[in-house]
Amino acid sequence: MKKIVILTGAGISAESGLKTFRDSDGLWEGYNIEDVATPEAWRRNPVLVQQFYNERRKSVIEAQPNAAHYALAKLEEKYDVTIITQNIDDLHERGGSTNVVHLHGIITRSQSSKDSTLTYPIDGWEIKMDETCELGSPLRAHVVWFGEDVPMIETAARICQQADVFILIGSSLAVYPAAGLVNYVPRHVPKYIVDPKIPQMSGNSTFIKIEEKASVGVPSLVTDLLGH
Ligand code: NAD
Repeated sequence: MKKIVILTGAGISAESGLKTFRDSDGLWEGYNIEDVATPEAWRRNPVLVQQFYNERRKSVIEAQPNAAHYALAKLEEKYDVTIITQNIDDLHERGGSTNVVHLHGIITRSQSSKDSTLTYPIDGWEIKMDETCELGSPLRAHVVWFGEDVPMIETAARICQQADVFILIGSSLAVYPAAGLVNYVPRHVPKYIVDPKIPQMSGNSTFIKIEEKASVGVPSLVTDLLGH
């Protein structure tokens, strides 16, 4: 079976109602990233950070996968598929994909604020300030903040090296180290990009460009790849 590796960003979930942040001038749902998505923000104002992610979690739980998520799941009929996502939502899994690597964590789980390897399921949409991990430290969202290590990056790089086909969907490739993953894909491998506003990036010219929204561009690319 040929291996398809797919790297997704916030754009694939935009039509499910989850906002990207580059599209809104670097703000994320009205907040400065530095105020809600960094270790300093958590030290300064944990209540604000907790509340921000509780709201994001509520939106994720209420959102539904869109045609792009469902189409990617169909690729598994004929290919060995790995999705590497920068998204913290679980819409790929709910769309039926079975092999998803979350580079930046997943908002539906909590994490110890002392040891990032301790993660837990969340009952409902809210983490309360008095909830603690087994070490007695407060629980926070299981997401990678700016300035934190990306533990899955080496696994993701190895997966990219094994690609026979590579697809990039809905990512401005502005956030490192995720953006660097494209460089691990072997040169001869066919590469596609689906984005209504194709981002500027080095090596851009080697991509087959599908300048469409994910809900349109992804199902039609999947139909082509399945040979229907
Ligand atoms: P980004 O916001 O930097 O870029 C979004 C990209 O999606 C842009 O290139 C834009 O043109 C494209 N896009 C917009 N609408 C689209 C559509 N309908 N179909 C296809 N593409 C569309 O996103 P990023 O590169 O993923 O980086 C943002 C960071 O923010 C990530 O690290 C991610 O963890 C986080 N984030 C996640 C979510 C989520 O989990 N749903 C939402 C917002 C931000």
